[in-house]
Amino acid sequence: MINALRSSFFQLWQAVREAGGEARKEWNRKTSVVAAALVAAALLPFVIRDPVRLAAMGSALYTVLAAVGVNFAVGMAGIPSLGHGAFVAVGAFTVALLRTEAGWDPSLATLAGVVLAGVAGVLVGAGAIRLARPIVAIATWVIAWLVTFTLAAFPGLFGGLQGLPVPEGTLGIGSVGLVVRLTPGVHYEVAVVLVAAALAAFFVLSRAPWGLALAASRDAPAAAASVGVEQGRLQFHTFTGSAMLCGLAGALAVQLAGVADPTAYGPLLSVELFAAVLLGGVGRPLGPVVGAAGLLLIPRVAQGLGAIAGLEAERFEPAVASLLVVAALVIGRGGILGWTDSVRARLGRRRPDGAEASRRTPTGLEPNQDAVPDTWRRILTEPRLNSSRAAGRGPLLQATGLQKRFGGLLALDGADLHVAPGEVHGLIGPNGSGKTTLLRLLGGTLRADNGRILFAGHDLTESPTSARIRAGLIRTLQRVTLCPSLRVRENVVVGATTRRRYGGGVRSLTLTPLARAEAKAMDGEADALLSLVGLEEAAERYPRELSGTEQRLVMVAAACAAFPRLLLLDEPSAGMSHAELVRLVDIIGQLRSEGVAVVLVEHNLRLVRLLADRVTVLDAGRIVAEGTPDEISRDQAVVQAYLGPRGM
Ligand code: ADP
Ligand code: MG
Repeated sequence: MINALRSSFFQLWQAVREAGGEARKEWNRKTSVVAAALVAAALLPFVIRDPVRLAAMGSALYTVLAAVGVNFAVGMAGIPSLGHGAFVAVGAFTVALLRTEAGWDPSLATLAGVVLAGVAGVLVGAGAIRLARPIVAIATWVIAWLVTFTLAAFPGLFGGLQGLPVPEGTLGIGSVGLVVRLTPGVHYEVAVVLVAAALAAFFVLSRAPWGLALAASRDAPAAAASVGVEQGRLQFHTFTGSAMLCGLAGALAVQLAGVADPTAYGPLLSVELFAAVLLGGVGRPLGPVVGAAGLLLIPRVAQGLGAIAGLEAERFEPAVASLLVVAALVIGRGGILGWTDSVRARLGRRRPDGAEASRRTPTGLEPNQDAVPDTWRRILTEPRLNSSRAAGRGPLLQATGLQKRFGGLLALDGADLHVAPGEVHGLIGPNGSGKTTLLRLLGGTLRADNGRILFAGHDLTESPTSARIRAGLIRTLQRVTLCPSLRVRENVVVGATTRRRYGGGVRSLTLTPLARAEAKAMDGEADALLSLVGLEEAAERYPRELSGTEQRLVMVAAACAAFPRLLLLDEPSAGMSHAELVRLVDIIGQLRSEGVAVVLVEHNLRLVRLLADRVTVLDAGRIVAEGTPDEISRDQAVVQAYLGPRGM
C-alpha cells in the first residue's frame, strides 16, 4: 500500500518535472511579457481600491473571457458564429433566476449556468457543423435576435426593462470559516485567473493534435479528410466548449453587475464579441484580448458622435461596432496582431541579419543516402490495431466492377484493380480516362455506383474515409494541398490523426503524461518521415517557403504518417526535377521493401517501367490492359491507344 502510494507519487512528481522542463523550453520573450502583464493585472486591486472602477475592470475582463470563448468557435473550429451573445445570456439568466427565485448558492448557480450554456451549445453546434459557413453566420445571428425577443417576451420571468436583481452573495464553506464576499475586487481577481486559464487553454489546445487537425480541416479540407481528420466531431466539441466559456463569463458578469438586464444581451453583444476576435486576429491566442481593448473605443466614439448630433451616445454604439467589424474585415484574417507581425517582418527584412536569408536557402533535395532511421523502420513494421498485417498471401486490394457516372458521363465503367501486399502497381492512361476517379472511389471521397472494394479481407465498399485509413488504405491528392498555417512538421503530424489514442481535448488540455508522450513520439515520427522524403531541414518552415514538388513530398510524408498498407499516389512526379525523381524512386523503393503496397498513377512511363511490378491501363473509363510492364509495352491495343510508336 505504502509502496504503491510512493510509486504513484513518484510518477506524479516525474510528470510534473517533465512538464516543467517542457514549459521552460517553450518560454520566450512573448511568454514573459504575457506572464508579467498577468501578474501586474492581478496586483492592480492593491493600487486601485475604488470599487466602481474595479467593477468596470472586472466586467471588461469577463467580456474578454467571452471573447476568448468566441475565438474557440471562430478561430479554432472555424465556425463563424454571430450569436455567441446568446450563450452569455443563457449563463447570466440561469444564475439570475436560480439566485433570486430559488435561492441557490453562487457557485452552484454558476455551474448550472455553464451547464445550460453547454446544452445550448450542443443544440446550436449540432446544426452549425452541418451547414455551410455563410448559413451558419446567418443562423447564429437569428439566434442572437431570438434570445432578445424571448427575454423581452416574458417580462414577468426575466424582469422586463428593470431586469432581475442579483444579490451579491458569498463563496466558500461556512462551517470551515472560509467565506469570501463576492466584492468587485474578488470578481476582478477571479476574472484575471479565468482569462489567464482560458488563454493558456487556447494556446495549448491550438498546438495539440486537436488544434492542428482543426486548422488543417479549416484551411485544406480535402487534404485533412484524405488523412482521416473527422472535422465535424472536433468542431462540435470545440463549439460546445466555447459556448460553456461564454456561459461562464455571463454567469459571473451578472453577479458582478448585480442585475440581469435583458437589453444588455442583445445582438450588439454578439457583434461586439465577434468584432473583438476579428479585430485582434482570428485564431490567435491573444487576439480577443487585443480586440476587446479595441472594443473599449466603441462607447468613446459613440459619445463623440452623440455630442455632435445632440443625441444619446447609445444610439451610435451599434453603428460604431459594425464599423469595427468592417474595419476588421478590411485588415483581414490576421487582424491587428497579424498586421503588427507583418510590419515587424518587413522591418526585420531590411535589417541585414541572416535570419531571413537563411530561411530562403534551398532545402537541399540531393538524395540523402543515410540509413533509414529506426523510427521509420518501426513505423512501417508496427502491427496494426484492427487488422493483422499478414492477411494471408492473397491480394491486399481486390476492387471489382467499379463504376462511376457523372451526369451523362460514364467516368469509370466496371474497373477492376488487384494489388498484392508490397506490390507497386502502375495505373496509366490518357488524361480524363478515370485514374483519379478510381483512386477517389478507393479512398472513399467518392462512392461507387456499382462494384465492390475488398481490402485486407474487409469489405470497405460502404466505409467512410476514416475507416479505410484505419485499415491502411491511404490516398494522396493530385493537387498539392497542405495547410498553409501549419508548419511542415505539423502538417505531417496531422497525417497521424487516425492513429492517435491520447489526442482528445481533455487529455490535450490537461497535458496528461500519455498525451505528451504521444505528441512527442509523433513529432519524432514526423521528423523521420520528413527525412525519408529528404526534407528534414524543412520541418520548422511553412509550406509556402517550399517549392510545389517539395510540398508534394510533404504530402507523401503526411500520408505515410497514417501507416499505410496501400498508398495511392496520384501523379506524384508532376513537375519534379531529376534529383527529386531520384528521391521519389528511392521513397517508393523503401516503402516496397517494408511491405507497403503502392498504386502509382503516372504519366512518366520510364518511372512506371522502373518501379512497377504490374501495370493497369485505363482508357475512357475502361480497363484496356493489365500485366507486367513488359507485357504492357508489347500490347498492340495499348501501343495504339496510348503509348504511341515509342512505347514505354
Ligand atoms: P484522370 O485522372 O485519368 O485524368 P479523372 O478521373 O480526373 O481522369 O476524370 C475522368 C472523367 O470524369 C473526366 O472526363 C472528368 O472530366 C470527369 N470527372 C471527374 N470528376 C468529376 C466530377 N466531380 N464531376 C463531373 N465530372 C467529373
Ligand atoms: Mg487525374
